[in-house]
Amino acid sequence: MRYLSLNDKNHMAGFKEAVVRGIAPDKGLYFPERIEPLPSSFFDQIENRSKDEIAFQAIQQFVGEDISNNALQNIIAATLDFEFPLVTIEEGIATLELFHGPTMAFKDVGARFMANCLGHFSETSDEEVTVLVATSGDTGGAVANGFLGVEGAKVVILYPSGKVSDIQERQLTTLGQNITAMEVSGTFDDCQRMVKDAFLDVDITKKRKLTSANSINVARWLPQMFYYLFAYRDSKKREMDIVFSVPSGNFGNICAGMVAHRLGMPVKHFVAATNVNDVVPNYMKSAEYSPKPSIATISNAMDVGDPSNFIRIQNLFENSFEKLQRYLSSFSFTDEETKAAMFDVYGKTGYMMDPHGAVGYLGLKKYMENNPGISGIFLETAHPIKFLDVVKETLDVSLDIPPQIQRVIDKEKIAIPIKKYAELKSFLMD
Ligand SMILES: *Cc1c(COP(=O)(O)O)cnc(C)c1O
Repeated sequence: MRYLSLNDKNHMAGFKEAVVRGIAPDKGLYFPERIEPLPSSFFDQIENRSKDEIAFQAIQQFVGEDISNNALQNIIAATLDFEFPLVTIEEGIATLELFHGPTMAFKDVGARFMANCLGHFSETSDEEVTVLVATSGDTGGAVANGFLGVEGAKVVILYPSGKVSDIQERQLTTLGQNITAMEVSGTFDDCQRMVKDAFLDVDITKKRKLTSANSINVARWLPQMFYYLFAYRDSKKREMDIVFSVPSGNFGNICAGMVAHRLGMPVKHFVAATNVNDVVPNYMKSAEYSPKPSIATISNAMDVGDPSNFIRIQNLFENSFEKLQRYLSSFSFTDEETKAAMFDVYGKTGYMMDPHGAVGYLGLKKYMENNPGISGIFLETAHPIKFLDVVKETLDVSLDIPPQIQRVIDKEKIAIPIKKYAELKSFLMD
């Protein structure tokens, strides 16, 4: 498998190079040169297959020769050792719970897969890779956890001081070893700018091999297709049309679902549900893409004003607005609507949604209004405990702390406070 850069399609890289670079030298996102559909027998017999088998079949062509089949099977087994339950919450609506991993957010899947790939590559090279990542919350914890103790990888995580939840902060500042947390006095955008500056800084790139662990990295983006396939397997409503509603920020998760569709998974439609950061909902109305500064909301992992993976979605549909429209709808919701949905669903069914999942639920409901008789699945991307303050206030409940969270609450926070890019640079040059 080769990947081309979406800036200059003449720049090509194999899987390993794309993972180690993160982004192409011309700053384009990597995109698979070709996607071969899986044989229809794969989908006909999917209920007889294990998670690991499904994942292997789905990802093998994207990895190609760069990792042996045996090593790839081991990477998959290490990535997927938790459950992805599909839970029916009302007539025709189920939620795919993606929060049973070590940091209780769906980003565990991509972060662990990528970490295991880099760990595998380091077995045959002594060059160290530095993974540099900016986080508004969940990415940091998932990356820290996934990369902890991985040979050949050093991880530097930048997060905005005071703007991530207490649990999220502990998940990324308490691990130590090869993980360094930098607490930036500034916003998430400031963190992201510093990361971008570092990638463009030749003093640093001459000295260190830098890669990113955001969803622009193909090893974090593509494995997210696995759980759409598991959900398809578990839905067992093969004669019914299925719609996936995905709470979206950078649009990496939904884009991976669309890759699963391209592999032949029978899905009728995708709904991209957003908070008031509504660049894509506006695009689906007007065919005009106008990025804007992000707005803070209670579903803060989706506060993105210029979703980096949207260009990949456009490419999957050959840059045709009409083709995209056939498979994608997109709706945005306010914080008030989100809280009302959390409250209603909890009251009616006892099911507790986090604010991101609630946005996904709302997106599905809205699509169903105009498409009666359809059954749908919305993705619950984080455990409610990760957004404890909002959940407590909205539902007036107290939550038990799950063991994987309790473990970090008891640990001491260690972070390097920084204000300026120069401080990040001197750390990386050291
Ligand atoms: C990152 C995140 C999202 C958004 O996912 P994208 O792939 O960026 O669209 C949604 N919900 C939660 C809880 C997240 O952490």
